[in-house]
Amino acid sequence: MEKKELEFIGKFDEHTPFQVLKVSVPEELKILRTKSEDLNLSDELVLKHFINRLKVTLIEEQGVGIAAPQVGINRNLFLFVRIDKEGEPVEVAINPRIVNHPKETICFEGDGCLSIPGVSGNSIRYPWIDVEYTNEQGVRIKERLEGYSRQDNFVGVIFQHEFDHLQGVLFTDKLCPEDPVSLAD
Ligand SMILES: [Zn+2]
Repeated sequence: MEKKELEFIGKFDEHTPFQVLKVSVPEELKILRTKSEDLNLSDELVLKHFINRLKVTLIEEQGVGIAAPQVGINRNLFLFVRIDKEGEPVEVAINPRIVNHPKETICFEGDGCLSIPGVSGNSIRYPWIDVEYTNEQGVRIKERLEGYSRQDNFVGVIFQHEFDHLQGVLFTDKLCPEDPVSLAD
């Protein structure tokens, strides 16, 4: 990471949440629209500090996922809640890739984003994806993530949503045809 990134992350202790960038602020939208770059895993200490602050942020915001660019760091890292696992642990995905997906897409109901508060919409997603990422322990994971039901499991959709953030893509770019955005209650 660059010096200014290290300073930004290290400015506060690991119990201090980040401020989540919003699309309504032009300077913040610019960061949210920037494509992120891979991380060097040798930056171990700063990565740990960064991940801890992201975890605190995710809890405070009550989200199911958060991506590095949402707090001002254009790097390929996000957190996603494993709603498909016992106890719903938070998983860290460093330098993630989507390596395979079906041709067909589904319309996922009720997508939303911490950077677009008060807005929800139905988004076009793949019903499953094969992914690769490095986890918090530094292990490269390869697995299939499935699920697109709000009521049941939608971990595959969470991963797709967060992965999009790393490309500068927002869920509002992927709304199902003739499916207007609605304001949440
Ligand atoms: Zn989001």
